This record gives sequence, structure tokens and C-alpha cells, in this order.
Amino acid sequence: MKRIAFARIAQETNALSPVETTLADFQSTHCLEGDALMRAVTAGPEVKGYLKRLELAGFLDAVRDRKHEIEPVPILSAWAMSSGPLAAACLEELEARLLEGLRRAGPIDGMYFCMHGAMGARGIADPESRLLRSVRTVIGGAPLVISHDLHANLTRARVETADAIVAYQTNPHRDHVRVGRKAGQIAIGTVLGEIKPTMAWRTLPMILGGGKTIDFLAPMRAVFQHMRRAERSGEVLSASTLMVHPWNDDPSLGWSTVAVTDDDVAGAERVADQLAEMCWARRHEQPPTFATASEGIAQARAARVRRKLGCVTMSDASDVVTAGAPGDSTHLLRALLSEATGLLTYAAVRDPHAIEILWSRREGEQVELPIGGTLDPARSTPLPVTGSLVSKHVRHGFGRTAVLAVDHLRVVITEGPAVVVKPSFYSEVGLSPWKADIVMVKNFFPFLMFFLPYNRKTVFVRTSGTTDFDAAFQLRFDGPMHPRDVVDDWRDRDQLRRGLHRAAPAITEPRAHASSPGSG
Ligand SMILES: [Zn+2]
Repeated sequence: MKRIAFARIAQETNALSPVETTLADFQSTHCLEGDALMRAVTAGPEVKGYLKRLELAGFLDAVRDRKHEIEPVPILSAWAMSSGPLAAACLEELEARLLEGLRRAGPIDGMYFCMHGAMGARGIADPESRLLRSVRTVIGGAPLVISHDLHANLTRARVETADAIVAYQTNPHRDHVRVGRKAGQIAIGTVLGEIKPTMAWRTLPMILGGGKTIDFLAPMRAVFQHMRRAERSGEVLSASTLMVHPWNDDPSLGWSTVAVTDDDVAGAERVADQLAEMCWARRHEQPPTFATASEGIAQARAARVRRKLGCVTMSDASDVVTAGAPGDSTHLLRALLSEATGLLTYAAVRDPHAIEILWSRREGEQVELPIGGTLDPARSTPLPVTGSLVSKHVRHGFGRTAVLAVDHLRVVITEGPAVVVKPSFYSEVGLSPWKADIVMVKNFFPFLMFFLPYNRKTVFVRTSGTTDFDAAFQLRFDGPMHPRDVVDDWRDRDQLRRGLHRAAPAITEPRAHASSPGSG
């Protein structure tokens, strides 16, 4: 019997957000060890309030197929909502628990480690590499397979420390279980000596491209099809394209590709290279441009019939909480209050301070207070409102929550992350999406699936915030970065980042970015 440990530490970091992620954020969302972790993964939900089955359930599926040869060993699973960088103490505590769990587990023959791949921590570069290196101090040279979200930023240190790296092949993501199973199969095959994973990768100086980056739509569809074809034909064990979380604070940020074969170096190199070329060819297809708040509200007002049949879903694209924004922006909220008059509008804002005030008030009471603009005061200012306190709730993941009626607005104020992705965010506090004209979400894509029954028109609104695509341009990079700068060739940077030290580039770096403004 061989023993394979499994663990998860996952959070997607937006380096521009001043809201630090602490251990409490993990503990209030998802943090399980040992037997409790095994129970959650086998019985579900794997992550409470999220999905019943995720990567670790997929890993256990793979183990079940070989249950007479493999014993799965649960270590630790910690997941927090996308937000600002982890506090150094938070990373250190998670790392300590992970290592303690591994030591307690006794002899380990291999490990599957599920990570997001775009996690940041205050003062610690590439914290996920640090975790991998720490794991190595306990498991030694035992096979170590990791999985990533496709918005991961791959680094040389990670490629050098792991035996195999696999990532989602869907965007919006819906193949968590499949990816966990694939990682499990590679780990099992390696531990049992049946395969010898061989990895090749490429990294591109590019943070945006591929249009909407949806796996089933052009221009990225062909890239995803190429990966699946290479896997189905047996050419590779796994092929991944990582489209990066652009607001990560890592100078070597960029899209990357990675291929894993069974002891076929040339094959891995070939597929990683093909995918990189395909991505680079799609670099000029930029994400869509979004409406201003006024334009978005006018579009919603004009959609009379559609509002009657359902609602207009309005994405606050500058304050996307699922991409790490603080969720406290008042730009769109202010515009909705003054310009969407007569339209019943559901909106959300995170404001722990306002919750503190509202918690001492009775339901039905008239209140006057500023809301929002407190977590990231540099990007938006508090909005003074007068309204009536409709209801108060305590909710898993969102913390204490209050509903405020302000004219035509129903504002859901949360103490914790304002993760507005599903209709239940509103319906659970008594606000039926059927009744609304406009429903605000703080999400880029997945809400489209969840709101399908209600949504008759989608409007993306850009104001100003940490999830504006060009907000990433203020970060520091290791050279020119597409599309901020003109970059004609990706191969020199790729060679440098991968440590291959090909002959120095013929052209010196056109500019240094040491004087970049912003928080970096
Ligand atoms: Zn992602």
C-alpha cells in the first residue's frame, strides 16, 4: 500500500487591494484538517457555501479506482475568497499547519497539492513556491503533483519543485473535479512506478489577450481544443494554458503553457511551444470595453420589455470581488441612486463599519449613514444615504448582513466579502430577482450561468477600481509587457525567465519600470 497525501491552500490575490487576507478569512470560509477534511470531501460539500465536489473529490475518485494500492492521507484544506495579499503571519500559520500535518501523517510516498497559482503575500515573493519548497523538506523527493486555476501565474521555481502541474481547461471554471482526478491519476501512476512525468513550459510577456478568454468561444476555443486533442491522443498526460490573474504582484507575470508527458521530453516541449504560439497569435484580441455607469443605466432603462420578463443584470466590473476587489466601491452605487430613479434596483456593498452602526438599530427604523468607500478609501468615497432598515441576517461567508431600502434601491450591506455571484445572495435576504429591474453583481463570468433564469439583459459597467483591466499596468514587470508596451517577440523573455540564458537579446530593454506609481 502506497500513501499519497492531499492538501489545498488556495486564494487568488489582487495586489491592488489594500484589504489584507488574514487567517480569520480562511477560518470563516473553509479551513479543515485530517479526518474532518476527509469527511467533507467524501460526503460533501467539499467547500461549504461553494461547490459540493471540487478538486479533492476528483483526487479521491482517482484513488478509489486503485483503492487496493493507494491510501489517501488528508492533511489540510484552506480556501479564502479572492482579496488582497495574505498577511505574512497568515501564510506562516498555514505553512506551519501544513508541515505539521505532513509530519504527523508519517511516511508519505507522494502528494497532491491543490493551489490557485495566483496567491500573493505581504513581503513574500511567490508564496506558493515557498509552500512547495517547504513541502519538499518533509516529503523529500517523493512525487509532488500540483493543480492550478487557469488564472495562475506560473513561475520557474514551481516548475522546478513540482513533478507535474495541471490546470483547469474551462473558463468559466467547471472542471474542478476532472482536474483533481487527472492530478490524482498522474500522482498515483508516478508513485506506483507506472509513469515518469516529464514537464515542459513556456512563459509569455503578456497579461491580457484572447478576447473574452472563454474556452468555448473564439478566439480561445482552438487553444482549448488543441489541449484536449493532445490529451485524448495520448501525446501528453496533461496540457494547460494559464491565462494569469493580471493583478498579481510578480515582475515575471504573464500567460504560460505547460505540458506533461510520460517520459517524452521532446513531446512535452513541442506541445508547450505550440500552445504558446497559439496564445501569442491571439494577443491583440483584447477584453471587451465596458459601458460607463450612465450608459449602463440608460441601457437598462431602455430594456422595458426585458425588465418585465426578468431583470437586467449589471456587473460592477471595476469592483469584482471574485477577482479580489474590496467590494466597497460606491461609484456605481452612487450612479444607480441618482440616475436609476423609478427602477427597482438591488445593489451590494461591503462595509463592516456601517454594519456596526446598523446592528444597534431595529428593523423598520429610519437611518441616516454613509455606506461604502471605507475599505479602499483611495478609490471611492462613502455615500451618504437615508433609508429604512429592512432586515438583518447572519450568513456563512458574508458575515452580518443588513438590507437597507433607499428610494428605489435595496442595498445589501455585508460585513464580510460581498461575493455577489448567485441570485441567492439577494433571495436569501428576501429580495426576489423576479421583482427587480436591475440586479447588481460583483463578478465577471460565472453569474451568467447562475442568473440564467432571471437575466434578460447583461450590462458590464466600468467605473474605476482594482479590477479594471488596465489597473494592472501600474504594477512592476521584468520588462515590456503586452498590451501595456509594444512587445514583438516572446522568446527572449521566455528563455530568460526559464533560466536558459540564451544569447542576450539584441535589443536592450526599452525602459525600466522602477518608477511605477501605485501600490505595486
Ligand atoms: Zn480562475
